[in-house]
Amino acid sequence: MTAPARLSIASEYAALLVQFDTWMFDCDGVLWHGDRLIPGVIEVLALLRKNDKKVVFVTNNATKSRRSYKGKFDALGVEAHVDEIFGSAYAAAVYLSSVAQLPKDKKVYVIGQAGLEEELHEEGIAFLGGTDPADALPFDAASFTPDPNVGAVVCGLDTAISYAKYSKAFTYLSTNPDCLFVATNEDSTYPSAHGLLPGAGAISAPLRYALGRDPVCTGKPAKVMLDCVKAKVNYDPKRTIMVGDRLNTDILFGKAGGLATLLVLTGITQEAEINGPGASHIVPDYVTQSLADLRAAA
Ligand SMILES: [Mg+2]
Repeated sequence: MTAPARLSIASEYAALLVQFDTWMFDCDGVLWHGDRLIPGVIEVLALLRKNDKKVVFVTNNATKSRRSYKGKFDALGVEAHVDEIFGSAYAAAVYLSSVAQLPKDKKVYVIGQAGLEEELHEEGIAFLGGTDPADALPFDAASFTPDPNVGAVVCGLDTAISYAKYSKAFTYLSTNPDCLFVATNEDSTYPSAHGLLPGAGAISAPLRYALGRDPVCTGKPAKVMLDCVKAKVNYDPKRTIMVGDRLNTDILFGKAGGLATLLVLTGITQEAEINGPGASHIVPDYVTQSLADLRAAA
């Protein structure tokens, strides 16, 4: 197993800038932690744009639509355009409409938040559940009438997850073998500004356990996500680099797509996972402490 190249001197960062035309970024743990920007990130993105690099943001965050995610960039003072942003909620909606071709008369039962609902709406997909306050109440099986038009269950991060939502999703999936089961992503944890919290993968886990069935996942590292990027952004994989903080999502995603990969150590993945006896089998091409280190290339 080849070790990743550890970047440290200005000429190495400058060489990277020459070598890659398209820069794909994960966001949480790379650009920011929750609502705290990582210092130096704005300068690096500005440097890339000044050098005519294409910049793409690929996030597994399923709570926000691309449009509301753009609001987060704005609030933190980071330049970004909606067509540069790809989220797992968007990927789930595109998967349902374009890949699975969910019939127009079918609906989706949603475990998730407003961002996921917005992306489904944009793709012309009808849905129920989600932010409906009725689903936050205790579940009453006697008064639940399943909607016969539900043809899919989509599960993303849901901070108002309830037994009622699990019970409804479970009923749709267990009583109809044709009902599609889609998860926005499998992230076990979510890096909030106040530390790690359960991620979208932890939200779908009880359903997988109850059903004995695995969902189709649309976020990183799934190919569906890269297909969504490909449909909108013209890039040469040989001249594209994926920057991320998580080996089993970001780095795996980049490798699966034939892209170069750069791991930053400002997020989930720790030094011990890339060095020594406990090292992961997923090896990035390059490693640097922080995205901010690329300022040395200026
Ligand atoms: Mg991340």
